[in-house]
Amino acid sequence: MRQLRVAIVGCGTAGQASAVLLARQGHRVEVFERAGVLGPVGAGLLLQPAGQRVLGKMGLLGQVERQGAVVHRLVGQNERGRSVLDVRYADAGAVHGVGLSGLGVHRGVLFSVLQAALREAGATVHTGRHVAGCEQDERGAVLVLDGGERVGMFDLVVACDGSRSRVRGALDAQRGIVRRSALYEFGALWCVVEDVLGEHAGVLRQAYAGTSRMLGVLPTGRPDGARADVVSVFWSVRGAEVGRVRGAGLEAWRAEAGALAPWARGLLAQVRSIEELVYAPYYDVVCDTPVVGRCVLVGDAAHAMSPQLGLGANLALADAWALARAVERALSRGEAVEDALGAYAGARAREIASYSFVSRGLTPVFQSEWDALGPLRDWAWPWLMRAPGVKQIALASLVGRRGA
Ligand SMILES: Cc1cc2nc3c(=O)[nH]c(=O)nc-3n(C[C@H](O)[C@H](O)[C@H](O)COP(=O)(O)OP(=O)(O)OC[C@H]3O[C@@H](n4cnc5c(N)ncnc54)[C@H](O)[C@@H]3O)c2cc1C
Repeated sequence: MRQLRVAIVGCGTAGQASAVLLARQGHRVEVFERAGVLGPVGAGLLLQPAGQRVLGKMGLLGQVERQGAVVHRLVGQNERGRSVLDVRYADAGAVHGVGLSGLGVHRGVLFSVLQAALREAGATVHTGRHVAGCEQDERGAVLVLDGGERVGMFDLVVACDGSRSRVRGALDAQRGIVRRSALYEFGALWCVVEDVLGEHAGVLRQAYAGTSRMLGVLPTGRPDGARADVVSVFWSVRGAEVGRVRGAGLEAWRAEAGALAPWARGLLAQVRSIEELVYAPYYDVVCDTPVVGRCVLVGDAAHAMSPQLGLGANLALADAWALARAVERALSRGEAVEDALGAYAGARAREIASYSFVSRGLTPVFQSEWDALGPLRDWAWPWLMRAPGVKQIALASLVGRRGA
């Protein structure tokens, strides 16, 4: 198979997985990451069965599972203790006789496992390289860095630079590919604390008051070197109010969050400073196509969505897998890189459009200023889930059978 010179922009989940898979095919892969020091940024993640399947095919699932936590059930209650959401993976059935479940992982675990595989596959990572765009002609593509330096030529550019992708912005300026790129009003403050007694094992648990307040706890297992299991705590908040929450101080936040979720008080007590809470904004990005010539957007760069479905990293892994397969197939038939990218875009379009639509629809129901929706949701949601077929559609979305 012809060896390609591949540039990957961004060393997050999408960039790492794409680098591993393309380097394993024998291509010369270079990753350009803006951070000066490599490392994961963000809270724990729920890996759905679809994401786990990709890691399994990459031969990496065992290492992640060993340091992660099985999640059997997703539970949500309102401030009066009424059950709003109760989804059990077991109800989704099994694949090849194996039961399905979520896998909670600390981001550092996923990052380290993918990074070790990337090194082993022979890809190179350049840190402190802030990519501003990509230029291309019939000979190939070059990366344009901040400050104007040009790096290349490359046969293929895989832009995995996340929800605020600069490469996406540059391609949009050239070809007008972005249909929607919006910052949600709400995001989440998050922190990682210990679950010493294992009280939060097995269940992703949420508490809601209307749509403007939510606390969530995701078990994420025990990373190597940790002395106890850890969980990620999420507190829903308007981006514009982060300063107010910080200004009110730790005790005020603890009191508000603890009143909403008394079962989480032991976790909240471990937070020693309000500065430990890190704000993560959410974006909604829709592109008409992720492909311009030899350049392809992958992961959040192509389709950032709010994490209501817990799917972004899973989609990033599935993208990387589909891209590597499309490149392999096209090159083995003597086709051009552009043909591979066309096939890739076609293969991913339906699934991504479907999840993007569901995520956009669900977000205001769980995180928005529309508090009046809360009681309606709390009343209607359990009934809706009992309606014929609805639960199966929801489960299919969760485990990754939707539109794939
Ligand atoms: C609070 C929260 C909870 C979430 N929970 C889940 C969950 O439970 N399950 C799930 O599947 N998903 C979840 N997600 C979504 C998930 O985090 C993302 O979808 C996933 O990280 C996307 O991976 P990515 O590689 O596309 O982008 P990123 O992880 O954002 O990586 C982008 C990389 O590109 C680098 N970069 C950016 N700009 C440049 C540039 N100009 N030049 C060079 N490098 C650049 C960045 O430094 C970074 O390393 C959650 C998101 C949030 C915010």
